[in-house]
Amino acid sequence: MHSLAQAASPYGRGFLEKRMDEHSRTLINRLASEHALDLDGYEYLIAHADAAVAAELAVHAVAVRQEVYGTDVFARGLIEFSSYCKNDCYYCGLRAGNRECERYRLTPEQIQECADTGYELGFRTFVLQSGEDPYWSDDALCSIVRTLKDRHPDCAVTLSVGERSRESYAALHDAGADRYLLRHETADPDHYARLHPPRMSFERRMQCLEWLRELGFAVGVGFMVGSPGQTSATLAVDLKFVERFKPEMCGIGPFIPHHATPFAAEPAGTLELTCLLLSIIRLIHPPVLLPATTALGTIDPQGRERGILAGANVVMPNLSPGDVRAKYLLYDNKICTGEEAAECRGCLGARMLGIGYQLVVDRGDPAE
Ligand code: SAH
Repeated sequence: MHSLAQAASPYGRGFLEKRMDEHSRTLINRLASEHALDLDGYEYLIAHADAAVAAELAVHAVAVRQEVYGTDVFARGLIEFSSYCKNDCYYCGLRAGNRECERYRLTPEQIQECADTGYELGFRTFVLQSGEDPYWSDDALCSIVRTLKDRHPDCAVTLSVGERSRESYAALHDAGADRYLLRHETADPDHYARLHPPRMSFERRMQCLEWLRELGFAVGVGFMVGSPGQTSATLAVDLKFVERFKPEMCGIGPFIPHHATPFAAEPAGTLELTCLLLSIIRLIHPPVLLPATTALGTIDPQGRERGILAGANVVMPNLSPGDVRAKYLLYDNKICTGEEAAECRGCLGARMLGIGYQLVVDRGDPAE
């Protein structure tokens, strides 16, 4: 992992001409043609990756993404509607144990206003995200989803509100929610226990993902890159999980330390490794909806562009009201906390055009 983490230069033609080790080349060709590797293959590719390997993977990933989605990039309007959380994930700034975190909840009316603004700006998917906040009963959430779908029937609604019961998920799906994001965080049970307090369980997380799929949601999994305790071996397990589960969406972004968490002194994940994994995931599951995340844009000013150029095809600008954005701090230095919704969409639209892609006005459903 080190050679890649230390590679400072952007990928370019020169790197493709550099000699790559034969085994990496074989693995890349196999991944591109079979969309799968064995565990050892994934681990080797990650552990031996350098800029040449990353560039080669990106060429394949971009070609595959081009076939499925052309140069369209889908936008999701993110509405961070509550910063209260009952969980204590060691990495997250919203963890219950963080007394510094200013908590807020948007009202249902404020949530609808965010969505109305977003609709005018061209968003056709809204992502409602929050901490795990028991304040929101099934009835309350269902009513928000129903109102949103009534007002904007041509839009998709994505929920990202953590672990709930099967009944709760069923009610939310009946109310009209189309998609659900619940990152698995790591597919290695020991690593999961390193990132979460004993009260949280790997099995329950996996159970929730199975329920969501059974109930008919388009499901998003995902993980942080460079989280404490992560190795090439645990990442290989993540990739095997993606290969098996074939999620409709997969959110990956670098881990970034938050100063008021147990992981405050841990190093952040890197742009290079995140981009490498985006390329690999695109090759494993060509139709996957893959965001170039805000966290990627936070560790590098060109992070989101680099993510798209590695095979991502989604961006998730913030639609939350300006006065609460700085309170929804999962990690330090989060970008776009001082901007308005329109600025975010305009800025990202221009950034995408700058690299030859276009933000489209579309629900951005997963390709068949
Ligand atoms: N409560 C919801 C939403 C969590 S926030 C849920 O549990 O699904 C969304 C994602 O942000 C998390 O799944 C996690 O992977 C990511 N995240 C949290 N803290 C982070 C950090 N310090 N750096 C980078 N990403 C982080």
